Amino acid sequence: MANNRDHASDQMKNWKEQQGSQKPDILTTGAGVPVGDKLNILSVGPRGPLLVQDVVFTDEMAHFDRERIPERVVHAKGAGAFGYFEVSHDITRYSKAKVFESIGKRTPIAVRFSTVAGESGSADTVRDPRGFAVKFYTEEGNWDLTGNNTPIFFIRDPLLFPSFVHSQKRNPQTHLKDPDMVWDFWSLRPESLHQVTFLFTDRGIPDGHRHMNGYGSHTFKLVNASGEAVYCKFHYKTDQGIKNLSVEEAGRLARDDPDYGLRDLYNAIATGNYPSWTFYIQVMTFEQAEKFPFNPFDLTKIWPHKDYPLIPVGKLVLNRNPSNYFAEVEQLAFDPSNMPPGIEASPDKMLQGRLFAYPDTHRHRLGPNYLHLPVNCPYRTRVTNYQRDGPMCMFDNQGGAPNYYPNSFGAPQDSHMALEHRFRTSGDVQRYNSANEDNVTQVREFYRRVLNEGQRQRLCENIAQHLKDAQLFIQKKAVKNFSDVDSEYGRRIQVLLDKYNAEGHQKAIHTYAQATHLTAKEKANL
Ligand code: NDP
Repeated sequence: MANNRDHASDQMKNWKEQQGSQKPDILTTGAGVPVGDKLNILSVGPRGPLLVQDVVFTDEMAHFDRERIPERVVHAKGAGAFGYFEVSHDITRYSKAKVFESIGKRTPIAVRFSTVAGESGSADTVRDPRGFAVKFYTEEGNWDLTGNNTPIFFIRDPLLFPSFVHSQKRNPQTHLKDPDMVWDFWSLRPESLHQVTFLFTDRGIPDGHRHMNGYGSHTFKLVNASGEAVYCKFHYKTDQGIKNLSVEEAGRLARDDPDYGLRDLYNAIATGNYPSWTFYIQVMTFEQAEKFPFNPFDLTKIWPHKDYPLIPVGKLVLNRNPSNYFAEVEQLAFDPSNMPPGIEASPDKMLQGRLFAYPDTHRHRLGPNYLHLPVNCPYRTRVTNYQRDGPMCMFDNQGGAPNYYPNSFGAPQDSHMALEHRFRTSGDVQRYNSANEDNVTQVREFYRRVLNEGQRQRLCENIAQHLKDAQLFIQKKAVKNFSDVDSEYGRRIQVLLDKYNAEGHQKAIHTYAQATHLTAKEKANL
């Protein structure tokens, strides 16, 4: 036997060992009826035909035909694990949420890491943002932080979301990834510059899922027991240290071990090497928000650490692998609109758009009763409401309790304790164009101050390597945007593009000359 087996490759062996000397169970149909023969189909004579009455076959086949649920439109390839969140610092002055109630308090969590644009079978080591979603199973219902490994995003207006995603996925005719589409969208929407710049740095290809930070990214609101509110951002920083893959290593792994991230997470947890992240918040008062030089609810921007320092809150620890991938990871559904009292939405337009989009996609992907599934069910509380019926209603459907409200029969009552924070808002209703709301200042800061010279060089190389495959007019628009951040940034990319474009031109001449049998002289004249 190969001696490079690990916990992931030994899963079947380990399962058998766990069964011990116990006799195998009797095989049944889906209805629990014992099966007499699971190897030979019922037929008239040894050569067939088959009989419709072979319900063992139809039961198996019909279920098999329906094994796949729709893949997530984004974040299709993922890995999940379970563990807990433990509070280390008191933030009850900001939030009354029970999850933060006392130091040492532990709340069970589920986490799903993912790439964004690829399909469910795609490689883990591609350059792509990573999803980093956390579900907290609190006693006040579930809290879902649908985060990423970046504190920002490509766009700030959710109306652009479907087009943005289309541009990053497959061409409608060729079904290929299309650099024209990718860079056309990015160059037409310069608010993407910050995230695009992050994406093409070394951190654009994290070494598995354990060595990257996570961010709630959006601006949220925290509300304390006295009803006072602040705005907040969530950060979860890796305790394993940041580690990235080189472009070459990532390419090799995409070929040799496309499930590298999934395997790494599974084996780390199986060997007791539990990954953890330190959880922080940043806090901004409403007065500070008024004076903030940018829109504090703009998802393409961060809040500077020096003005809004990280406040430690606790730790996320992952210590259990899923016992079944489909049940616990594929069906795991995160929804930013799941917020217990004390945590609320801010006006962040992208967040507001996701409050609708996420549960909507789950109702399509998993069905309207997706919250009945064990992994999504808020199992630390009891759901008592007036929702009833629908496909795959898995519990007792709340028995004989009244299904309308108000009622005179002592059925569940709403509670003032859970009322949302009251806030004032004003403004004319219109479609506000935010395209030019300072897309460069923070990117400039990042490019000039945060990155060192080696990182800047690799950033430009990574961008040029990808941008070179887009048409020249798109390259030009993209370089103009990078130059607006820093003329040196744009110039470096242009120099590299000139080199690649010239190489591409030479290659094209060579191919044409070969195909048309040109002489060396004719070729030189091209
Ligand atoms: P600081 O100068 O205090 O710190 C720099 C931040 O950049 C750190 O959070 C660091 O993460 C992060 N970072 C370093 N390299 C990369 C990379 N390749 N990709 C993404 N993030 C990276 O930050 P400021 O608050 O003063 O902001 C300066 C700039 O830093 C911002 O304009 C933004 O571009 C970037 N940034 C800011 C963040 C924030 O929330 N304030 C978060 C991430 C980036 P770590 O500490 O884990 O090394």
